[in-house]
Order: sequence, then C-alpha cells, then structure tokens
Amino acid sequence: MAIALVTGASRGIGRATALQLAQEGYRVAVNYHTHAQAAQDVVEQIVRAGGEAFAIQADIADESQVVQMFARIDTEAQPLVALVNNAGILFTQSRVEALNAQRINQVLTTNVTGTFLCCREAVKRMALHQYGAIVNVSSAAARLGSAGEYVDYAASKGAVDTLTTGLAQEVAAQGIRVNSVRPGFIYTDMHASGGEAGRVDRIKSQLPMQRGGQPEEVAQAIVWLLSDKASYVTGSFIDLAGGK
Ligand code: NAP
Repeated sequence: MAIALVTGASRGIGRATALQLAQEGYRVAVNYHTHAQAAQDVVEQIVRAGGEAFAIQADIADESQVVQMFARIDTEAQPLVALVNNAGILFTQSRVEALNAQRINQVLTTNVTGTFLCCREAVKRMALHQYGAIVNVSSAAARLGSAGEYVDYAASKGAVDTLTTGLAQEVAAQGIRVNSVRPGFIYTDMHASGGEAGRVDRIKSQLPMQRGGQPEEVAQAIVWLLSDKASYVTGSFIDLAGGK
C-alpha cells in the first residue's frame, strides 16, 4: 500500500478525493488546517470501509508546518506516491479596487506558496523512487477571472496553472507526473467563505449543463489523473465546470 497525501481533506473536494483514493487502495494522509473533528471523521469513514488513513494538521501557508507534515509521512513504512494539492482559500466577494495587500498576500501565500511548498517536498521524495503523481486543484476562475467576486483568488489559480505546466516539464524524466483539475461551481462550503453560500444555485442556470457539480465528480478526475491509467498524461488540465 502506498501513501497519497490530500491537503485540505477535511471537507469538500478534498474529503471526496480522500474517500475515493482509499477505495483505490491508497493509505491516505488527510491534511487539515482547523477542523480536526471533520478530518477525524474522514479517517474513521475510511477505516470503517476497510481502508487506511491518518490525519495530519498543518497550515500549508507555513513552510515549517509543511516540512513537518512531510517528515511525519516519512515515518510511515510506505512511500509517498501521490499528492493532491487541494487546500485553498478565498475571501468575501469584492471588486479589485477594494482589495488590500494583507488579503491579497494571504490568498497568494496559501494558494500559491503553499502549493509550491507541498510540490517541493513531494518531488524530493518521489524522485527517490522515480515514481509519483501530483494533481493541483486549480479553478475555472483561472480562465474566467472572477470579475466582481475575487480576482485575487482567480489570479492565484492562474499561478497554480503555470506551476503545473513548468513543474510537469521539470520532473517528467524523473517518472513524476504533474497535472491539474479546474473545477467550477461545486457544492461545497467554500462559497460561504465568499459570503454567498447559495452561489452555485444562483449561477447554475447560466451554465451549459444547467447544474452545479458535486465534489465526487471532481474527485473522480483527480483519482484518474493520479492512476496509472493516466500514465502518459502530464502537464494537462481537466476542466470540471459544467461546460463553462
Ligand atoms: P472548502 O469546502 O472550503 O474546504 C477547504 C479545505 O481546505 C478544508 O479542508 C480546509 O481545512 C483546507 N484548508 C484551508 N486553508 C488551509 C491551509 N492553510 N492549510 C491546510 N488546509 C487548508 O473548499 P472546496 O470547495 O472543497 O475547495 C477545494 C479546492 O477546490 C480549493 O483549492 C478551491 O480553490 C478549489 N475549487 C473549488 C471550487 C468550488 O466551486 N467549490 C471551484 C473551483 C476550485 P479546514 O477544514 O481544517 O479548515
């Protein structure tokens, strides 16, 4: 059994991904930031179903905590073969002219720096075995821009896309694949963080598919990208945004 680390796996897309990866036979490292009980619930659900998992608290925006998280994974007998950079944040809907540096930096530090740091630590380990796969959870916002909502968040996901392209090329010859999913309009708690819990239902009629997406639908794409079924796929993007 090999280890898959999913950041931000206590809720939403990360939680759905952790559950599906456990079904595929990975031992899942369930990272969370603040919701310890929710992370523990994910671990218990996996174990009840006959899988293996453990929770790890770490703020991915904090370099020392990221280093400690990977050191904790090193204490396991199995190698780390999969990383899902899922943890991400956004703040209340706002126009660009109302943003301040503190908010912009917080979004960039978590969504961009945090993702870089986790990639760095994972690549060091995967390179030892010349095998591994990383999926970065970007957003349709990287393409669409999130005007009037959170351009800071959209820009952070644009940076994640560029990271995916560049890192995929850097590590391809080392047997490591790096891909990205770009969800949009998925039913999770994240929209409440933006100040509009019902955002998906407001927008859904404007989407070609006329509905929002479920976290499990994003998780399926992530699990496929991590699997050997995607063995010739790297530097690629899968959009999961109902056709938008
Ligand atoms: P969510 O329901 O708000 O869950 C966010 C998760 O990230 C939680 O597990 C949270 O942990 C964790 N997290 C937040 N900050 C963290 C940090 N500094 N360190 C470690 N973990 C942290 O979000 P979601 O909707 O599932 O989103 C997951 C990913 O999908 C994000 O990258 C998001 O940008 C992307 N995405 C979502 C949508 C959508 O429509 N929902 C669309 C496009 C892209 P705690 O529970 O401990 O706080």
